[in-house]
Amino acid sequence: MDEKDILYFKDMLTGQLKELLRVGDDTVSLMQNSDDRLTDPADQASFETDRNFMLRIRDREYKLINKIRKALERIEDGEFGICKTCGEDISVERLKVRPVTNQCIKCKTRHESRERIFGM
Ligand SMILES: [Zn+2]
Repeated sequence: MDEKDILYFKDMLTGQLKELLRVGDDTVSLMQNSDDRLTDPADQASFETDRNFMLRIRDREYKLINKIRKALERIEDGEFGICKTCGEDISVERLKVRPVTNQCIKCKTRHESRERIFGM
């Protein structure tokens, strides 16, 4: 991977991270605002559902934010785009689809089929 590719992914990941952090802030303020006006028990119930839903989204966002941060760290360390399992280069095409990945498609596929077979 050359300098140009690295910069491309760095921009992409930084942009995604900013976007996620911005959306995250919106979710938090939405939750805080709706806390103030809960009198009806029915509202309360649907609020709980919404809240669980939002928490699940937050959880997923949080995990993605972590993955993006790790990918950015790998860029700084010069390890970005290298498979953590076999040490080979991950294809740029794959990285364009999943820039946070740290495994090449071969290792990922092997890992997933093992998960399926052994429930690991
Ligand atoms: Zn690999």
